[in-house]
Amino acid sequence: MKAKFLGGGNEVGRLGMVLTTGKYKFLFDYGINPTKPPEFPMLAPPVDAVFVTHSHLDHLGMLPWLTRNGGANIYATPPTLAVAPILLYDTVKIAKIENNTLPYEQIDVDNIIEAFQAINYGEIVEFKDISVSVHSTGHLVGSGMYQVSDDKKLVFTGDIQSIDTHMLYGIKPIDTDILVVESTYAGKEHPPRVAVEENFLNSIAEVVEREGVAVVPAFATGRAQELLMVLENTDYEIWIDGMARTVSNVLLSFPKYIKNFQRYKKMLRRIRIVRNNADRERALHGDVIITTGGMLDGGPVLNYISQLNDPKNGLFLTGYQVEDTNGRMLLETGSIDLAGVATKVNMDIKSFDFSAHSGHKELLEFISGCKPDTVVLMHGEKREQLAGEITDREVILPKNGEEFEI
Ligand SMILES: [Zn+2]
Ligand SMILES: [Zn+2]
Repeated sequence: MKAKFLGGGNEVGRLGMVLTTGKYKFLFDYGINPTKPPEFPMLAPPVDAVFVTHSHLDHLGMLPWLTRNGGANIYATPPTLAVAPILLYDTVKIAKIENNTLPYEQIDVDNIIEAFQAINYGEIVEFKDISVSVHSTGHLVGSGMYQVSDDKKLVFTGDIQSIDTHMLYGIKPIDTDILVVESTYAGKEHPPRVAVEENFLNSIAEVVEREGVAVVPAFATGRAQELLMVLENTDYEIWIDGMARTVSNVLLSFPKYIKNFQRYKKMLRRIRIVRNNADRERALHGDVIITTGGMLDGGPVLNYISQLNDPKNGLFLTGYQVEDTNGRMLLETGSIDLAGVATKVNMDIKSFDFSAHSGHKELLEFISGCKPDTVVLMHGEKREQLAGEITDREVILPKNGEEFEI
């Protein structure tokens, strides 16, 4: 087998890996960095099939380019296929607003659905003498790793989460010869989740006690739903807004993919959904507002910050804030860019590590549980420390654009 990263090899983001095995070429993930302006991976060669691990833009934001160029079938789980067009239409919309060019247009997103092929956990796609199956990774509703079975077995993980969360069970190791695994948190550990949740709930209680509102920016897929479940046993007036609202509703169609589906459904019925500007006004008098964008770069969250910019209100970040985003600027300077004006945020600002990625020790445990001969560490910037702790196995640290033999 031979592999080549089109992006996301020695970096977090814009992932794409071409695998050549026998007479087949497969593409695993094809994402963009949703930065301003967006960053794209290298262009893909013609492939026989595309396998998508999950519905985050750094894993699927480039798919419409394939469709535009007469691309192959795109395999993913039903939840991933349902959420993908929402993210892609939004990407086209944002590019238009920001005057950025994309290598595709809205019509390509319209057409992409024809290339979609659903594959459920445990199911197999056959290609003559090669088969490919998909298994849960605990990262998002519907996130999957792919196992390619040729003479040797290869697993491509996408993003993985080891711990059980409210929405999902953690990833289970799978026997393989070659393991291509993410390494976003190489060299870093997460605090215990129970402590993070307790801290988060206490912080919200403080805000509500002083009659403030807790604004909680969250990524639309994954984070927003998990946070709702963290708030399950409270009686706060909770509002949800932006793409987080759309995605939370779409996921109601996939009971088999959610750990506590009945509880999730009940929670979605109990919270209040922002449907129009009048609702947005009402939300200002609620207790908690969960809203996109998670990095404060757009979406209704900016409106809430400008309306609620007062120390009695909370602004609780729940995800990693990438460089050059408003969220990162807030953490570093206390200000954000609101419609071109640097604005000091006077709210009670806190960050909580609700990461959906395995930490360093969990990555090592997962890798040894899979018993591979060869480990390819991708989707990471600090892979050396992790590589140094993997003994008795060949370790490959791929660079974008370099083809390597496995
Ligand atoms: Zn992800
Ligand atoms: Zn990722």
